[in-house]
Amino acid sequence: MRHYPVYLDTRAKRIVLSGGGEAAVAKLRLLMKTEAEIHVFAEAPDSLITDWSEAGRITLLRRALTPLDLTDAALAYAADEEPGRDAATAAMARAAGVPHNIVDDLQGSAFITPAIVDRDPVTVAIGTEGAAPVLARLIKSDLEARLSPSLGALARIGKAFRTMAEALPMGRARRDFWRDYYERTGPRAIAGGEAETQAALEALLEEHLQRPARAAHVAFVGAGPGDPELLTLKARRLIDEADVIIHDRLIAKPILELARREALVINAGKEGFGPSLTQEDINALIVEHTRDGAQVVRLKGGDTAVFARLDDEIEACEAHGLSYSVVPGITAASASAAALGQSLTKRGRNTEARLVTGHDMQGYADHDWARLARTGEVTAIYMGKRAARFLQGRLIMHGAAPNMPVSVVENASLPSQRILATTLAQLPQAQAEAALTGPALTLLGLAPRQQHTKEERAL
Ligand code: SAH
Repeated sequence: MRHYPVYLDTRAKRIVLSGGGEAAVAKLRLLMKTEAEIHVFAEAPDSLITDWSEAGRITLLRRALTPLDLTDAALAYAADEEPGRDAATAAMARAAGVPHNIVDDLQGSAFITPAIVDRDPVTVAIGTEGAAPVLARLIKSDLEARLSPSLGALARIGKAFRTMAEALPMGRARRDFWRDYYERTGPRAIAGGEAETQAALEALLEEHLQRPARAAHVAFVGAGPGDPELLTLKARRLIDEADVIIHDRLIAKPILELARREALVINAGKEGFGPSLTQEDINALIVEHTRDGAQVVRLKGGDTAVFARLDDEIEACEAHGLSYSVVPGITAASASAAALGQSLTKRGRNTEARLVTGHDMQGYADHDWARLARTGEVTAIYMGKRAARFLQGRLIMHGAAPNMPVSVVENASLPSQRILATTLAQLPQAQAEAALTGPALTLLGLAPRQQHTKEERAL
């Protein structure tokens, strides 16, 4: 960044401009928005400049700029569009220690003027260091369309109300109040005028002052396998009350839509094998927001206690003395068994069912393969999609029957749910043919109940 953007105070300052043509007019249009006193030096000024002078908006001096004119000036513009003259203006400014700008000459200028989106007191300055004026214009028109024309008025009214808002405790309570104003209450009220906005602001402050202070807390919440109807009532309430939601990649949109409009929703999605936020980053996010006084919901797919790194996150909270609670959810194995119309344990068949992972931090995970290979056993494999060939190899090696039923349930509980019914011998190939893209759970030892999923078995 060669050019560093700053905002210059122009109150009771003088800005000097040499030039009377088109470039001067364009710069003056911007400069007249400031509170500075503007001195223009031009022997043959454009008629607009004489008009502005007559209206008292600028001071026009019909002569050339001299070094004395620069004494105590805040800025100097060389806008004569004559290289020799502009260089002389720049030299005088340099000698007087006044930052100077030569119009359309980035190299010769001490500072450059950005493109400006003006919602005074909110202003956005856009600079490309001369690289792409077209781009600056595109960004400007994009922002012009995006920032409501009433934003300036909103900010002005808000600014005048700052002392009043100090009745709220510093930190989150006050931030929540301002967020409410700028996002919701303000934009609605401003259509009715400034007086109405002022009244709305007062009412909003009263409402926020009445709000009971809640202690910071983080709830680790299981969001279930995806279907919003499989959320617990408690999960639903906590999502609805949360200030901050930090969620996994697997959390479906309809669930996130239950959050309040004001809530901050952060995707902390970790990809199976790909690049991602580290667990430390996620711990830090949770701690940071909870310490800040927020009601935080750490939303995890399925159940909080199944392959969900819950302990790491709880330990991070304990290390900082933060209050937390854990709310269980329906795990993918339950939802997948439900999709098959089967139970995970069955009298006379298996008295235990295992939840295992297809891979761990070291790569493909190792297990007691001989037990998993036995007929009648039921094993739910999480994160097992990519491990299909490895699993098959290990199980066959430990004596599993090649016709052991295997079901892979993709997107369990969601409208996009698919069931792949196959055998151990066919697993890798069948899975490749099905081209699964969503999260999938592999169930060893279970086939879909015939009548239950007739059409899905066609897969
Ligand atoms: N805590 C989660 C598991 C997280 S590990 C739970 O209790 O369900 C992520 C793995 O869960 C995925 O790789 C996939 O194997 C499984 N999974 C999660 N949601 C699933 C869904 N809707 N359908 C099938 N498998 C799912």
